[in-house]
Amino acid sequence: MAEDIPLRSNVIQWQKTTLNRTDHARLMGQKPAVLWFTGLSASGKSTIANLVQVRLHAAGIKTFLLDGDNLRHGLSSDLGFSASDRVENMRRVSEVARLMSDAGLIVLVAFISPFGSEREAARARMADGEFIEIFVDTSFEECARRDPKGLYRRALAGELSNFTGLDSPYEAPSSPDIHLKTALTGAEALADEVVDHLKNRGLVPHG
Ligand code: ADP
Repeated sequence: MAEDIPLRSNVIQWQKTTLNRTDHARLMGQKPAVLWFTGLSASGKSTIANLVQVRLHAAGIKTFLLDGDNLRHGLSSDLGFSASDRVENMRRVSEVARLMSDAGLIVLVAFISPFGSEREAARARMADGEFIEIFVDTSFEECARRDPKGLYRRALAGELSNFTGLDSPYEAPSSPDIHLKTALTGAEALADEVVDHLKNRGLVPHG
């Protein structure tokens, strides 16, 4: 009896297409990139990523925002918060980000992404130089004080397990491409900082 063909990369060969990522980016008139916001829950990733996206959009740049919480409603609705599920979640999100950057977009990813090794794996999945790690640096205490979704209150009351910073680790980036300190600066100014960085990299036109 014939064996089922396993869906594995050693069996399925890469199907070549006529158009490639360079063609897509040229038609878009921009350079793709993946802006990867990492930090604790409530550190400000979504808030700042959203403000950056609005600025890029206003400058005529085509973007897409992948928000960790939103993706858990669909793409990753089958995953929980164990270490292995978090690793799988990272793999899926980074693959989607890669595909969107292949399509020529600037992709913003707002995602706790607590493990350094997984962020490095995400960097390795992207085209050379296109992964920009943005550390949204907010202390656990400050995040717990903000608590916009009431998650810290529940986690500290013992109602949630595997909560990042409490009973699940957060490995802060040691040399992020951009380091945003939210205790010192407001979200709007931090979004400007990100856009300035992108201008210096030639991803956003000056002016
Ligand atoms: P995350 O996406 O990291 O879980 P959110 O952006 O959803 O975080 O929530 C961060 C909260 O902190 C928001 O209520 C935001 O208004 C608030 N906040 C206060 N100061 C800042 C700042 N400097 N940068 C970003 N967010 C801030």
